[in-house]
Amino acid sequence: MSDVLVQPLSRLVMEMNESATIKMSQMGRDLKAKGFDVINLSLGEPDFDTPEHIKDAAKKALDDGYTKYTPVPGLPELREAVVRKFKRDNGLDFAVNQIVVSNGAKQTIANLCLAMLNEGDEVILFAPYWVSYFEIVKMAGGVPVEVYAGVEQDFKVTPAQVAAAITDRTKAVIFSSPCNPTGSVYSMAELEAIAEVIAPHEQIVVVSDEIYEYINFTGNHASIGAVPSLKDRTATVNGFAKGYAMTGWRLGYMGAPKYLADACGKIQGQFTSGANAFSQKAAALALDADLTPTWKMRDEFQRRRDIVIELLEKIPGFKVNRPEGAFYSFPDVSYYFGKTDGNMVIKTADDFCEFLLLNAHVATVGGDSFGAPNCFRISYAASEKDIRTAIGRIAEAVKKLR
Ligand code: PMP
Ligand code: GLU
Repeated sequence: MSDVLVQPLSRLVMEMNESATIKMSQMGRDLKAKGFDVINLSLGEPDFDTPEHIKDAAKKALDDGYTKYTPVPGLPELREAVVRKFKRDNGLDFAVNQIVVSNGAKQTIANLCLAMLNEGDEVILFAPYWVSYFEIVKMAGGVPVEVYAGVEQDFKVTPAQVAAAITDRTKAVIFSSPCNPTGSVYSMAELEAIAEVIAPHEQIVVVSDEIYEYINFTGNHASIGAVPSLKDRTATVNGFAKGYAMTGWRLGYMGAPKYLADACGKIQGQFTSGANAFSQKAAALALDADLTPTWKMRDEFQRRRDIVIELLEKIPGFKVNRPEGAFYSFPDVSYYFGKTDGNMVIKTADDFCEFLLLNAHVATVGGDSFGAPNCFRISYAASEKDIRTAIGRIAEAVKKLR
């Protein structure tokens, strides 16, 4: 027998944290399966179905034989539609060979990190950030550097904060606007001011995650890649999951400098061989089609946002901002830290969510894995009835904490 102790699992997976969003939604499902009346406000997934015209296009694509591998970076007609979309909506000029289509925006971000990062390279994350940025950066050997903005600054970082975090090792900056988990939206003026401090550092690539672009209540979406000084150094990421209610289709895309697009194509050529053929065919149609179903979903999210904020503001100790996009609220509940219901002491936002799951049967996600340990996330991609019942139960449950 060999003396060498073989570890069953890799260091990579041992050091990785499970996705908190996915973990909490599974805990909610498990409790429900045991017969509890759980309301699940944990997962960031539109509660609408994919619009009919897109589903019809996928059915036709299957009948037309789109059942084979596509070119690794995507079907030419989808990449061409993406070029048109970036020009039309974002004022971005890309050539087709700068577009890569992947199995969800999540894979797009993973491709980018694997393509860019070497051991020890620093990546600035605007915190609160989406949970997967942190883990993907770590997985690729990078070092996440958090720049934090709390509820009192509408969860938006300032240029001075970004400037203070930049070092010679900074390789990339990643953020989302509209933001998951805060719903905050950066204006063009705010992005220009941030671009001004990044631009002099030529080694930095900006990864701008715009997957919630169409769920924006301000009427104005701004892309940092449209700022001239960062035009050639920004990877603009988007996808179909949120704006078209297509989470299960697994389709995302980016426009990026050609050397990065080539590198991402090379990576996914080894990992996945590219995205699903008939999803891509339908998605190409979606990009050029009328967006009425999308605007209807957005209007409904905005209506629910108003309800959610009105109800949350009434709960003692909850500090909330007014989200301008996405479908999340991110209350600061640090007021409850140190309080107890006699069974458990709330020390962190994760404890607070566990308390809510057990006492209110409402699944939410603690802020620790979003880089915001004072807050927790409520997804309002749920019916008005469920939202009202869930927040009512939360309000009752917190009365037990003293
Ligand atoms: N970025 C953000 C900010 C998200 O919330 C999500 C949610 N899933 C993604 C990327 C990944 O999207 P996709 O489902 O296209 O992989
Ligand atoms: N992005 C969604 C969320 O934040 C879906 C789950 C995930 O991919 O993390 O809940």
